[in-house]
Amino acid sequence: MRDYDAIVIGAGNAGLTAAATLQRAGAHTLLVERHNIPGGCATSFRRGRFEFEVALHQLSGVGVEGQPISLREGLFQQLGIAQTLEFVSERDLYRVVIPGQLDLTLPAEWDGAIDAIEEQFPGNRDRVATFFDLLRTVTFWQMAAMRGMPVEQIDPVLFDYGLRSVQDVLDEYFHDDRLKAALSMYWTYLGQPPSRLRFQDLALTLFAYFEFMPWHVRGGSQAMSSAILDSFRAAGGDVRFNTGVEAILTENGRVLGVRLGDGSDVTAPDVVSNASLPTTYGMLEGIDLPAGVRNDLATRRIGVSGFVLHMGLDASPAELGFTTSTTFVDKDLDSDHTYRSWRTFEPARGICVSSYDVAPIGFAPTGATHVSLMTLQYADIWKSVAPAEYARVKFAYAETLLDLCEAVTPGIRDAIEEVDVATPLTMMRYLGHPGGAIYGYDQDATEGWLFRDSERRTEVPGLHLAGSWTGMGGFQPTLEAGARVARRLLRTKAAR
Ligand SMILES: Cc1cc2nc3c(=O)[nH]c(=O)nc-3n(C[C@H](O)[C@H](O)[C@H](O)COP(=O)(O)OP(=O)(O)OC[C@H]3O[C@@H](n4cnc5c(N)ncnc54)[C@H](O)[C@@H]3O)c2cc1C
Repeated sequence: MRDYDAIVIGAGNAGLTAAATLQRAGAHTLLVERHNIPGGCATSFRRGRFEFEVALHQLSGVGVEGQPISLREGLFQQLGIAQTLEFVSERDLYRVVIPGQLDLTLPAEWDGAIDAIEEQFPGNRDRVATFFDLLRTVTFWQMAAMRGMPVEQIDPVLFDYGLRSVQDVLDEYFHDDRLKAALSMYWTYLGQPPSRLRFQDLALTLFAYFEFMPWHVRGGSQAMSSAILDSFRAAGGDVRFNTGVEAILTENGRVLGVRLGDGSDVTAPDVVSNASLPTTYGMLEGIDLPAGVRNDLATRRIGVSGFVLHMGLDASPAELGFTTSTTFVDKDLDSDHTYRSWRTFEPARGICVSSYDVAPIGFAPTGATHVSLMTLQYADIWKSVAPAEYARVKFAYAETLLDLCEAVTPGIRDAIEEVDVATPLTMMRYLGHPGGAIYGYDQDATEGWLFRDSERRTEVPGLHLAGSWTGMGGFQPTLEAGARVARRLLRTKAAR
């Protein structure tokens, strides 16, 4: 007799949806989280009269009421939280600014975006329309392939375009480098520059935001994490916060349960881990790591982390000059240089600016604004900063993000009332992930569903993996991954 039917390690997006899906299907589940709140990345914190969103810049996949295959009508209904959450539409996909070269706002709607591009880049209407068709077609066939459609039934367009680099495809369609940059700005959400990013990944991302629009959540991503936790608890699930799992126990080669930080053992035939892969496999006790797992881990690269300035500003978005919720500001058109700079302390070359009060999410008092500035960065350079130097280095680097932001909001520094700075070391500390990686492994051409299937194949019976380390990072992918892994686990349980 085991204590639980399943144990879930980690209450990030995937851990939460896995736990809620399991418990709501009747599998008695224990959710264990090191931190004192649910959400992993999907959390918030308070400073002065502001609350700060930690991670969510744009939630994809939500869609509008009645829209098929949306999170709103799918996962959120299944978890019973669709009516609990209030989604705030961002209206625009983003504004992209390269000072002196480009200032373009793309509405979150296919035709509106074509009009906006045509206005600034006359003569491109047909080319952009054909490019958008390509995005939709590649995404359609990619989804069909991911769901197991036989290769011979897949349209060759997926094989012709899917694995080519974004840059290569953009070069085929467009001449103006500024237009190419405007259409590929989401590369920073995926952590790979257009020269390395697979076209199918950008296509899927643009499709998810255009078709289902970008959203914020009223009350921040924390409200969503708490709603999923409530759904889990209401169905009878147990949760332990401030409790790390120290070991995954095995017996005769299969999972037996976990050992918690206080030394106690809890048993269950199935364990779902939302922790990183190196952490998860490193916690396995009583078993030699299968060679397949060792080889897999040895050939992967820890992904990128982030550097974020969370700011409470004593001015309204209009006073500050914000016209969109999301603005990308880049120093120039050289995305390869920007990517390389993530491993150095070179002044920030590209930032994502989120203004959470253009369409208010409720975190700033009336007349004030909550803004975050973010650039991606790898953790290694931060690990070599001496503790005594850390505060100085992080505030000096933060100034470089503010310098870039001044291009869209001159004088923003004067409005700062509260500021908090997070570095890759902050992410490491709060998430427990190697390198503070926020999307798991580097999402380059060797990753992805075609070449890796770590979510489906753990090679240790009873161990299941869900989250950014076993698939695509980001909110929508991880929310969906947890529920998918739980459903697969339930099917296996039923067949046992
Ligand atoms: C600053 C920032 C901005 C971002 N912006 C966006 C965005 O705009 N759009 C987007 O889609 N994505 C964004 N992301 C990425 C996205 O938030 C993540 O990819 C996603 O939330 C990861 O979810 P996950 O399920 O993998 O779990 P994680 O959020 O990685 O959480 C894992 C959880 O496991 C817990 N854990 C680890 N080890 C143990 C253990 N041994 N015992 C118990 N608990 C353990 C951790 O404490 C943590 O709570 C951003 C991330 C950050 C940090």
